[in-house]
Amino acid sequence: VDPAKGARIGGMIAMGCSGTNAYRYGTIKAHVLSLTLVLADGTVVKTRNRPRKSSAGYDLTNLIVGSEGTLALVTEAILKITPLPKNPQVGLAVFASMDDGVAVAIAIMKSGMQLEALELVDGDCMQCINHSKLASDVFEERPTLFLKFAGSAQGVKEQVSFVQGLCEERGVTSCEFTGDKHRMDAIWDARKCLGNALATMKKHDSDLVITTDAAVPVSKLARLVEGSREIVKEQAGEQGWWSGSVGHVGDGNVHTAIVCPQSAKAEVEQLLAKIQRLALELEGTITGEHGIGLKLRDLLNEEVGTEGVDAMRKIKFALDPKGILNPDKVVRLEAGV
Ligand SMILES: Cc1cc2nc3c(=O)[nH]c(=O)nc-3n(C[C@H](O)[C@H](O)[C@H](O)COP(=O)(O)OP(=O)(O)OC[C@H]3O[C@@H](n4cnc5c(N)ncnc54)[C@H](O)[C@@H]3O)c2cc1C
Repeated sequence: VDPAKGARIGGMIAMGCSGTNAYRYGTIKAHVLSLTLVLADGTVVKTRNRPRKSSAGYDLTNLIVGSEGTLALVTEAILKITPLPKNPQVGLAVFASMDDGVAVAIAIMKSGMQLEALELVDGDCMQCINHSKLASDVFEERPTLFLKFAGSAQGVKEQVSFVQGLCEERGVTSCEFTGDKHRMDAIWDARKCLGNALATMKKHDSDLVITTDAAVPVSKLARLVEGSREIVKEQAGEQGWWSGSVGHVGDGNVHTAIVCPQSAKAEVEQLLAKIQRLALELEGTITGEHGIGLKLRDLLNEEVGTEGVDAMRKIKFALDPKGILNPDKVVRLEAGV
């Protein structure tokens, strides 16, 4: 599913992670068939066998995926594997505005054409990639769609030609499609290095990188991207904080990042909470893939209501009555604190 470099299977399952391949292949949830768990009291549980489907009782596997290590330790996982994509090609399309990139992404999704990956990076983040020198090439510092194609040779040709046509309709300023392995790696590495590149925008070592992880239904994606920019740009600019956005647009998931001094942490978190609330207004979620942890517990109340959080707390105590597994993460052990 391609999350951050270095992520391990246990952490990926615990966090319900996803990444650039999730648009085509689903999040980690779609890949976990069965788990072996150690519960808080030491009991070992295997959640199910390994057929493609099963209706045998409660779905313990998916209760644990995304539970952030609060319900059980995962010690074994049976995962689905997928054949490697055939005839891969990568595309890079540069636009004058984010709106054009979003419009092309939405048109691709509405067409029903299934690409391998669809990522949108704004001009600030493209500048950040160049600034970091983590990519093997230098890229235009404008809104850029990163695309991946695969399938039969003829199918890929048709996909590329269709996408190229859409890009041209939206006035793409430059466009490249390649099947050359070296060039494909160079383009995709640029997208993948962004997570680490953000840290290079710090003015001081002690500065912070704070990001959102909002996700909305694809029909509301344009409003999330536009709204996030409106919320952040003015204040970040006035304060001299760096900011930028990158979207797993195929999944309606957008990360807006701000790099700021430690002294501004509370102020930035409040600003970014406005984006998460916007996502809720748009029938979305405060976190598409990073999880709740400690930081988003209050906003979780806004997403699922006190009743929802209370139900989660009951599940927590049913499996971990002493509250010893990642205590106070996701839900506070004590209600109303
Ligand atoms: C630069 C950067 C980019 C990122 N990009 C993405 C991205 O694109 N998509 C995405 O989804 N996430 C992303 N993340 C977040 C992170 O990489 C993922 O959540 C990843 O799945 C965490 O895996 P890990 O092995 O690092 O877990 P860890 O950080 O080691 O652990 C995460 C949590 O899982 C629990 N845990 C770990 N192992 C187990 C186990 N065996 N059983 C039970 N609980 C366990 C830990 O207690 C902890 O609470 C990014 C993070 C960074 C720093």
